[in-house]
Amino acid sequence: MYPNLLRPLDLGFTQLRNRVLMGSMHTGLEDSAKGLQKLAAFYEERAKGGVGIIVTGGFSPNLRGRLYPTAAQFSRPKHAEAHKVITEAVHRHDGKIALQLLHAGRYGYHPLTQSSTPAKAPIAKFAPSEMSSKQVENTIEDYANSAALAKQAGYDGVEVMGSEGYLINQFICKRTNKRADDWGGCYKNRMRFPLEIVKAIRRSAGDDFIIIFRLSMLDLVEEGSTLDDVILLAKELEKAGVTIINTGIGWHEARIPTIVTSVPRGAFTWVTNKVKPHVSIPVIATNRINTPEQAEAIIEQGAADMVSMARPFLADPEFIRKAQDGEPQLINTCIGCNQACLDNAFKGKRASCMVNPRACYETEYPIIKAKQSKRVAVIGAGPAGLSAALYCAKRGHQVDLIEKSDRIGGQFRLAMQIPGKEEFRETIRYFANQLEKYEVNLLLNMEATVQVLKEYDDVIMATGVKPRQVKIEGLAESTKVYDYQTLIREKSYVGEKVAVIGAGGVGIDVATMLTEPSRYSLQEWMQEWGIDQEYKHDGGLYPFPEIHSKTEVWLLQRREGTVGKGPGKTTGWVHRATLQKRGVHLLGGVNYEKLDDAGLHLSVKGQSQTLDIDSVVVCAGQESVRPFEDKWTEKEGHVHLIGGAYEAGELDAVRAIRQGFEIAIKI
Ligand code: NAP
Ligand code: SF4
Repeated sequence: MYPNLLRPLDLGFTQLRNRVLMGSMHTGLEDSAKGLQKLAAFYEERAKGGVGIIVTGGFSPNLRGRLYPTAAQFSRPKHAEAHKVITEAVHRHDGKIALQLLHAGRYGYHPLTQSSTPAKAPIAKFAPSEMSSKQVENTIEDYANSAALAKQAGYDGVEVMGSEGYLINQFICKRTNKRADDWGGCYKNRMRFPLEIVKAIRRSAGDDFIIIFRLSMLDLVEEGSTLDDVILLAKELEKAGVTIINTGIGWHEARIPTIVTSVPRGAFTWVTNKVKPHVSIPVIATNRINTPEQAEAIIEQGAADMVSMARPFLADPEFIRKAQDGEPQLINTCIGCNQACLDNAFKGKRASCMVNPRACYETEYPIIKAKQSKRVAVIGAGPAGLSAALYCAKRGHQVDLIEKSDRIGGQFRLAMQIPGKEEFRETIRYFANQLEKYEVNLLLNMEATVQVLKEYDDVIMATGVKPRQVKIEGLAESTKVYDYQTLIREKSYVGEKVAVIGAGGVGIDVATMLTEPSRYSLQEWMQEWGIDQEYKHDGGLYPFPEIHSKTEVWLLQRREGTVGKGPGKTTGWVHRATLQKRGVHLLGGVNYEKLDDAGLHLSVKGQSQTLDIDSVVVCAGQESVRPFEDKWTEKEGHVHLIGGAYEAGELDAVRAIRQGFEIAIKI
């Protein structure tokens, strides 16, 4: 299985054991000395799991390049000493690891930021100062110094972050480089900065050191590089001494989604494929690659020599080992939700993974066999119950998983039916196969009775939620009203004019589903977002086309403020942009009055209006389901409540799966 993916790659002075690079991710553990021990354990599990080469999160080569005031820097001998714990951990398992050098430039969140030109980024708080030519030269030396120190620390190489709109990109593109000296103006001058960095690193770290360059192959911003620019830089980077070219897609300030779950799998492989024929060093494809089948196909078809996967290794440290053992069905697939990784990182919290709560908590959450094997009942096979059942079984307990419906998955089964969220199906597949492997006794179509309290040592109540009913005059009597569960499950026909009551995550999902175009290929997805696959425009962009849905939708909430962003810190803008492009009416500050034959009567800021609608879909949150709650005291301390049954408000799958895991490691 996967002969291309698992084939070693000869780099001349060294070999990679397969074609998979674990891409750089900022976990939040980089920024403190204590965090490095935990980071070492995190990387060690991935190296043990067989990945070819790991790239760390970004470390700045100097003070001004840090992402935020307390962010990680790698520029002194003490840093090299402190990082040995990481390199030794990875090398214990014959893995390889490269340190990523990232200078944030104008994306830095502090007043000391510097860039090619003093223009503030649209997503930044601070305007950078312009680097003098002396400062440019010093920064190049800082990269070289950091690379030499990385070698001393035992790193096998460095990755130079030259994409996503950070400092190097800010020099390369005319969008951000308005200089008139030797570092600006024509393209030859603008690409001097990355080339001098690479040459300086090669000089300081020697020939037997991997230099990966993350090249922005598709900027997705105005005044970004042309394809010719990208190809020329790739060729010059090869001459300057780069060992491997990695792909970067989209600046952080680009308003086009590049990694969230609604981005089709492998959506940007075509970009790497355009650059690869022009260089003879290995080239890596990236973005939304999350299965071994897809990775194998990319390499087999010659679009790239390697693939980069970052979040899939948060989700499953044993991704490669399982692929090697012919067990891809046991891989815990990253579903691109961003909910526990990037959302956490952007909130300044430690990253983890929704589907793998152990990620970045390896030292705190070892999975140890239970001293005594107990009889455990888990009631409810939604995300929380599945997680509890699996980890209890892994610890050696005998687990009965009782589910009243005829299948597992709970709320994930609804989520996977939302266009752009099909990946949620993978988590259900993962749990189904793991439950079988760990011999969980799955009892479907069975309603738990109070009897479970007597029969089991421990009972985990993961009975989930039911949709909240709302009180609006005329709603209860109307035949035009649907709750979201029924609508999603039964794909009820709701007409062409629909009001959605409630604009939380579910309301957004429903509005997206109702306005989804019927045919939706990769080309259509790119067209919807204005991505120029022929690469005739700078940055790979052309203006957004208007997309008009046949269904007219009003997404409503009582709260004032932005409507349609939902809960995700890094994904909210994608939801809102999607709904806006499809012409969904986003109304906040709504006061519901009544529903009658004329429609839904409401007022916004004192202005009354009647929405002439065919139907109303209620997405007003949930309430907990807790069967025979009054009897739980009979088993004081042995009944555990998790997921939506524990707390329906702000329910999210990250909490649900984590609670299932946490109770399982305590029992
Ligand atoms: P939610 O986020 O609590 O949103 C419920 C919505 O209903 C709110 O917009 C609320 O706004 C409205 N509402 C509440 N009570 C109401 C009432 N009595 N009458 C009328 N409107 C009422 O719930 P949800 O959308 O069902 O989502 C549930 C959980 O799943 C959330 O925690 C969410 O994070 C998670 N989820 C996440 C995603 C994702 O993409 N990350 C997707 C789906 C769900 P007003 O009170 O202002 O009207
Ligand atoms: Fe993937 Fe979601 Fe886990 Fe992040 S939190 S690694 S996106 S599954």
